[in-house]
Amino acid sequence: MPHQHALILLRFIIVGVIAGIFSGWYWGEAMVEIAWLGKLFLNALKMMIIPLILAAVISGVAALGDIRKLGRTGGITLVYYLITTAIAVLIGLVMVNLIQPGVGLNIESAGLSESIAAKQDIGVSDILLSMVSPNLVASAAEMQLLPLILFAIVFSAALTTLGRTGEHVILFFNGVNQAMMKLVTWLMYFAPVGIFALIAGRLGQAGGGDAFLNEIQAVGLYIGTVLSGLAIHFVVLFSILFFIGGRGTDYLVGMLRALLTAFGTASSSATLPLTMECARENKVDERAVRFVLPLGSTVNMDGTALYEAVAVMFIAQAYGIELGLGPQIIILVTATMAAIGAAGIPEAGLVTMVIVLNAVGLPLEGIGLLLSVDWFLDRFRTSVNVWGDSVGATVVHRFLPGEGKHGIVETDRRRS
Ligand code: ASP
Repeated sequence: MPHQHALILLRFIIVGVIAGIFSGWYWGEAMVEIAWLGKLFLNALKMMIIPLILAAVISGVAALGDIRKLGRTGGITLVYYLITTAIAVLIGLVMVNLIQPGVGLNIESAGLSESIAAKQDIGVSDILLSMVSPNLVASAAEMQLLPLILFAIVFSAALTTLGRTGEHVILFFNGVNQAMMKLVTWLMYFAPVGIFALIAGRLGQAGGGDAFLNEIQAVGLYIGTVLSGLAIHFVVLFSILFFIGGRGTDYLVGMLRALLTAFGTASSSATLPLTMECARENKVDERAVRFVLPLGSTVNMDGTALYEAVAVMFIAQAYGIELGLGPQIIILVTATMAAIGAAGIPEAGLVTMVIVLNAVGLPLEGIGLLLSVDWFLDRFRTSVNVWGDSVGATVVHRFLPGEGKHGIVETDRRRS
């Protein structure tokens, strides 16, 4: 898509977001009527994900060349994920200790919701287990992307060892990848309407602006803590983009369509097709786009990690339980793991928070305090999640062998 088109589309998407907030706010429940338009957009995005991920990761890993380069790129990617996620948790911890949003709160716990109750025993080993699927088709059907991605990585690594036979298969997936890219550019034109309907519909479901304000009043300080932490982390990521990724505001503007889609859908996975398309348009190396972004959309969730740390400390404060340095270090580690384990779908972070609560021995019922506003915070943390992935792609791009040759797989060059 030519640059000019992208900017026009971005303007329409911004109008969609603003119009969505206004109409959901004022017309409230009436907007639930149009929520199906948002669902249509979301479904179309989800429809793309499985073929897109398989084709992108297989052709992307193959484009890295031999397996040693995969090791290096994978190493840099994982280090980036871990460091930025840990920074996010640290920022969350500092903010929640400074602001103390839970202190003095009147606890009327809403009890355990069903989705949480079912996950009471989830632990770190479950996250590791979820990485390898006994049934790839079932994983795909349930949108569990991590085992699919890991399979695609090793599958592609195997292809690169097969010589000519492997090349045929890689060419096939290159073709699938290009076709998927084309579909995504078409779907993008529907984004302004889709995002408008998603936001208006959700606010409508919450009963409109006044009902929403009532809902958030009790936990206003908590919301403020999460949002200010996310804002700080956004800026930290921007500095990483600037100093390590070697990019600036043009990249941020270029990624805005994806960030706003993340805000509208509250799902990193559903946003992935757009994240990849925007990064590609912004001249991030194809290999980084196809390797870092799919993996990042399910593994690298800075916003979720930050939010989990704040939420858990908030619950402790609300129950009047003092958590010293030791337990906070446990939170640092487990919140990072919980964010890695969270799927890129709406409110997944709320469920994996169980890991963190269990680790520091807090009552799971505390989650009841956060339920009503989670859909709202989810949108912000998902945008930060996608921003973290986008910055990661530029960082890995910098360290790629033969850096500078954008879109190194010749057959993938697109006519614009
Ligand atoms: N909705 C988030 C995402 O898709 C995950 C979460 O924090 O709930 O990135």
